[in-house]
Amino acid sequence: MSNPLLEVKDLKKHYPIKGSSLFGSKHVLKAVDGVSFSIEKGETFGLVGESGCGKSTVGRSIIRLHDITSGNIYLDGADISTLNEKSLKKYRRRMQAVFQDPYASLNPTMNVFELISEPMKIHGNPSVAEQKETILHLLDQVGLKKDHLYRYPHEFSGGQRQRVSIARALSVKPDFILCDEPISALDVSVQAQVINMLEDIQAETGVTYLFIAHDLSMVRHISDRIGVMYLGNIVEIGSSEELYSNPLHPYTQALLSAIPEPDPTIEKRERIILQGEVPSPLHSPSGCKFRTRCPHAMTICQEVVPEMMEVETGHQVACHLFSK
Ligand code: ADP
Ligand code: MG
Repeated sequence: MSNPLLEVKDLKKHYPIKGSSLFGSKHVLKAVDGVSFSIEKGETFGLVGESGCGKSTVGRSIIRLHDITSGNIYLDGADISTLNEKSLKKYRRRMQAVFQDPYASLNPTMNVFELISEPMKIHGNPSVAEQKETILHLLDQVGLKKDHLYRYPHEFSGGQRQRVSIARALSVKPDFILCDEPISALDVSVQAQVINMLEDIQAETGVTYLFIAHDLSMVRHISDRIGVMYLGNIVEIGSSEELYSNPLHPYTQALLSAIPEPDPTIEKRERIILQGEVPSPLHSPSGCKFRTRCPHAMTICQEVVPEMMEVETGHQVACHLFSK
């Protein structure tokens, strides 16, 4: 680990919620509450956790779609965490995004040519001939055809629309693409195709991904390393392999036990069913936020917030079971 494209240090994003308590005083929703990790150049970092745990907020903070509460975000060594829109301009091209619902993120009145050329024109001044040449190459890269060029989003399937979104993100040759649940809305049969395509594109271009998903089954294949989030914090980080073969945090163990093991030679994991609901990020538990659902909760877990610590090289966990 020596060449991070992205470094996130103690990132916090808190939302003040007006009038959420008696007398209209302000409450604070801690959507992301101190998250640190880095992504190497050309690496895919997976971020998983239940809906509402703060994954999208981490992603959107990194590409500076909104201001952050505190912490630092470094892109290639440059601190972009507090830059204003004007200063961010030169970094915008380098960080692109693909979201879950391409229907919502693609303007329905634009055809494929217009959709893909739009970011190119924002970030440069290519001639129409240059645009067309680049777009035809991109269509090929994402598995679409030349005669898709003048079609509109409604004429495509969900998977094809997502391919258009990916081509659009790639059109400005980004260093980094935030993939926020890009396959969650697609048919299972199409999911693997899109994952394979993203992997091929990475092999060809060296682009770095942050790949967000709500379960561990698909991220395993695409991610080099994975971070597991719970209620605004990362509770475990490890290589995909390590996380699957040796999950340490009780929450990671529970998430993993919920996915079917396709390999019959691997002993079936014991199914761990978590008790209770995810607490609201407006009223998160003291100490370890997972303790209210943890099958191993101890007294210390109520009192002390567990620090992230490295248990083995590259494998970090925030859990008192591993405190010395
Ligand atoms: P995930 O992507 O893991 O499902 P999100 O990052 O979207 O989670 O949301 C994390 C938490 O922050 C949720 O409780 C969500 O309701 C809250 N949240 C997200 N965006 C806002 C916002 N703009 N204002 C207030 N709360 C928000
Ligand atoms: Mg999300």
